[in-house]
Amino acid sequence: MSLQLDARQRAMLQEMGIRVFWPEATPVDLSMQGQVEETEAIAVEVAPVEVRPAARSPEPVAVRAERPVALPTPLRPDAPPRQRMPGIEAMQWEALGEAVATCRACGLCEGRHNTVFGVGDLHPDWLIVGEAPGENEDREGEPFVGQAGKLLDNMLAALSLSRHQRVYIANVLKCRPPGNRNPEPQEIAQCEPFLRRQVELLQPKIILAMGRFAVQTLLQSNEPIGRLRGRVHDYNGVPVVVTYHPAYLLRNLPDKAKAWADLCLAQGVLRGSST
Ligand code: SF4
Repeated sequence: MSLQLDARQRAMLQEMGIRVFWPEATPVDLSMQGQVEETEAIAVEVAPVEVRPAARSPEPVAVRAERPVALPTPLRPDAPPRQRMPGIEAMQWEALGEAVATCRACGLCEGRHNTVFGVGDLHPDWLIVGEAPGENEDREGEPFVGQAGKLLDNMLAALSLSRHQRVYIANVLKCRPPGNRNPEPQEIAQCEPFLRRQVELLQPKIILAMGRFAVQTLLQSNEPIGRLRGRVHDYNGVPVVVTYHPAYLLRNLPDKAKAWADLCLAQGVLRGSST
């Protein structure tokens, strides 16, 4: 499969450090950005798409209790058990956002400045799912800001996408874990119904799961990302492609090329689904 890239997209890829796909005879001229809409085919090999259901139980998520789920360990000995908000599975978009904003179903509510519900097109082709808000996201109330967000924006721009056009971005957790520590399983279990309902309402054509916790949550798998990349999984009927988190890519530059290949795989799935 080949992708048609214009000068702006090539420049974005160059900024990502993706050079392996350039035709050798075609140097990137940054001065051409926004001037010439020339396109040319570049070799981006995407393997035939095999849709494999994730190896998990028919229930799509880790915890799907019908009644409120109490955390095993309250923050204080005298604190009442936290209860998950009822009725999430039937909420419409606005009510879902308000439910997140007022949620106190896990201890992360204690330290947050803002909940981070998500951002983007409400009729997206792509749903990008990350892990949890960091310090910048907690302050601004928007996912993927700062350097990792800039890299994600460049990755999207290379596909002629943006976080406001054909894309919605959300996290598994809507509140920041203190000190950017890893999410606890019970925090993910408490918060995951919000993401599940977001997927149901957004009806994306492809989900790009970025980073270990997004992947583990959506696929209910403990396998490392390296073993899950390169094939198409399933989350409640929506195809899922797995890739690295942009924050990881900032520390591991050689893996940017793998992330680009993952995006091309997702793009191929999307094109296949729309034909
Ligand atoms: S992380 Fe999720 S479950 Fe926990 S308080 Fe925030 S919105 Fe509620």
